Amino acid sequence: MFENLSERLSGVFDRLTKQGSLSEEDVKTALREVRVALLEADVSLPVARDFIKTVESRATGQAVTKSVTPGQQVVKIVHDALVETLRGEGDPGALKIDNPPAPILMVGLQGSGKTTTTAKLAKRLKDREGKRVLMASLDTNRPAAMEQLAILGKQIGVDTLPIVKGEDPVQIAKRAKTQAALGGYDVYMLDTAGRLHIDAELIAQAAAVRDVANPRETLLVVDGLTGQDAVNVATEFDDKIGVTGVVLTRMDGDGRGGAALSMRAITGKPIRFVGLGEKMDALETFEPDRIAGRILGMGDIVALVEKAQETIEAAEAEKMMRRMAKGQFNMNDLKGQLEQMQKMGGMQGLMGMMPGMGKMAKQVEDAGFDDKMLTRQIAMIQSMTKKERANPALLQASRKKRIAAGSGMDVSDLNKLLKMHRQMADMMKKMGKMGKGGMLKQAMK
Ligand code: GDP
Repeated sequence: MFENLSERLSGVFDRLTKQGSLSEEDVKTALREVRVALLEADVSLPVARDFIKTVESRATGQAVTKSVTPGQQVVKIVHDALVETLRGEGDPGALKIDNPPAPILMVGLQGSGKTTTTAKLAKRLKDREGKRVLMASLDTNRPAAMEQLAILGKQIGVDTLPIVKGEDPVQIAKRAKTQAALGGYDVYMLDTAGRLHIDAELIAQAAAVRDVANPRETLLVVDGLTGQDAVNVATEFDDKIGVTGVVLTRMDGDGRGGAALSMRAITGKPIRFVGLGEKMDALETFEPDRIAGRILGMGDIVALVEKAQETIEAAEAEKMMRRMAKGQFNMNDLKGQLEQMQKMGGMQGLMGMMPGMGKMAKQVEDAGFDDKMLTRQIAMIQSMTKKERANPALLQASRKKRIAAGSGMDVSDLNKLLKMHRQMADMMKKMGKMGKGGMLKQAMK
């Protein structure tokens, strides 16, 4: 589903992926196209505008995670913003159905999938929560609809209120309420009449039923393929009847993602379930992550960015090991390593990642090294010139004084740092000499 939006966004991000860095202008250009894509996917204008604003302020000024491209980073930001817009509060599938018998009112247009959804939900409550459910059809205009619910009830093993000819919807609702109480049901579901379009009579009827039943949940069933119209329907029903949640049907088809996004943003009502087919099991709780992933069609990129943060430390360590294997370890390497230590919560973390380093961690600690020193040590290295960093042997007394003064430290602190560097460099040379099949090669596999 959502091919249109997904394809469109893919194009935008492909272009962005080829660029080197994520500038403000890049973000603006990309998001202009995202906005068009959203509008084409039937997302309403104010929703698209708000959405873009959120993403823009988030994307601009955000550091691009190393090891992913700027385009990938923007995908992640767009994805997260989609999830946020789509998400309601709490567990979408958790219905308020304590205090038996709890009434659930089902409303929506004819053909939206209301009757099918009523039965699917009844089955779900019975199977997953062990509820005793009674279903009643109030569609007195269409005897076939009442019959349909009775057939579905038999099929899924859920009771339906016997059909009594000549009753109006309010009378049926009252009878359902009484029957539910007498029969010891946990839940009774009222499947109201639908029309092809919203009209005054439809609304009046639903309101009258609502007043009799005093429902705990009023679920609006909307055809997910109808795009912008779906939002209008939802707004209308919510204003006149008051809905507590939305069920989007036909999300198994290749409709546009816009309906879900606008519906959520405009009505503020949580999307509770999605219908994913005609079968009685084809009802799932709404998962914003999944829908956002499908809208973007780039789930793997999102996962990649999430992983990148975790793997970046390992990648850096590997890079350093390769230099070590060649016997290279200068102050830049040390600085890189100290910065990694900071990120990873200190000495233990980093040493733990490198085989054979446990002993050295102890030595380094004995040499007066602690994690609080990290910042200051990095500052000392930053006070060195490029040449000094590449070749610490250059550091004679006058240079040491300059560096210590520049970083607000004593020369003795600098000497400790240099000693640590020498010890580490020695160690690494030894490890590097182990050569092919040695410890380092093993570790790098
Ligand atoms: P109502 O008039 O709103 O009660 O609509 P129905 O429940 O009678 O559904 C109309 C048609 O849509 C039926 O053929 C259903 O099988 C079909 N339908 C309902 N929900 C879904 C869904 O989630 N996916 C698909 N593919 N079909 C659905």
